[in-house]
Amino acid sequence: MNEPLVTLREVLGPADAQGYAVGAFTMCNAETADAIMAAAAEDNSPVIVMLGPKEEPVFGLPNTVQIVSTLARNYHIPVCLHLDHSRDPAQVQAALAAGFPSVMIDYSARPDEENIQVTRSIVELARKTGATVEAEIGYVGFPEATTEADNNGSIRSESHLTDPAAAEHFAHVTGVDALAISIGTAHGRSPGLPMLDFDRLAEIHRRVAVPLVLHGATGRDPDQVRQVVQLGIRKVNVATDLARAFADTMAEALEAGEGFFWHAEALVRVKQRWAAVVHRWIETLGSNDRLVDITSRL
Ligand SMILES: [Zn+2]
Repeated sequence: MNEPLVTLREVLGPADAQGYAVGAFTMCNAETADAIMAAAAEDNSPVIVMLGPKEEPVFGLPNTVQIVSTLARNYHIPVCLHLDHSRDPAQVQAALAAGFPSVMIDYSARPDEENIQVTRSIVELARKTGATVEAEIGYVGFPEATTEADNNGSIRSESHLTDPAAAEHFAHVTGVDALAISIGTAHGRSPGLPMLDFDRLAEIHRRVAVPLVLHGATGRDPDQVRQVVQLGIRKVNVATDLARAFADTMAEALEAGEGFFWHAEALVRVKQRWAAVVHRWIETLGSNDRLVDITSRL
């Protein structure tokens, strides 16, 4: 394999054709990337490794490309490295220059016209390097940052949910490769089990040709997740579950060591937990043993 980093199109095209979804896991350092890829390789699953704005300062963009390509080569698996949730066109440009094969530009909190205009310019830019672009229409909010979340942490106000006609128009005029939509999920830890708008998803899938993306799936019942995959979700973002595993492991290590622990020992333990999170999502999304769908085309 010459080029270990692949685009969203290469990963989500087969998923769309075969009716499964691929997990997109947020890395923040080499250890997270390694745990994610080790689990995917073990399950023969395609995988998307993401770096978000919170994680970007940890290593920077060029180092991230180096780390992820090296690990992908070592595991002999193609990996889609994807910049998650960038709200900054200059950062997207820097990621493309650093060698990211895929990016998300998120202007979903802005008026639709502005979202279309900025997304379109990013798609044009990405085409020059052959990279793929995800954008979002409707707004998957952050419960802690809004007063509109209900008691379950779900955001269901009509202004946040994706309008199917608007999504169809958006995908058509921007030329995006994947579209994140809002059907009632929210980022971060949700205390309850919000109801998802399955009818809305089915309608969006009927109208929009590009693969659909679900953000904010943490805490969702696996059966609900399987149902949204059946209805057309092809990429599911996972970040909070990995952060939770880290926080829990460190808290336990601190408690067991009465205020002190060896970070190396704790990191070894947390890598096992991260891998367990990834295995669980791969199973739920049905992407295990699907690696051949991609490698047979490379
Ligand atoms: Zn998100």
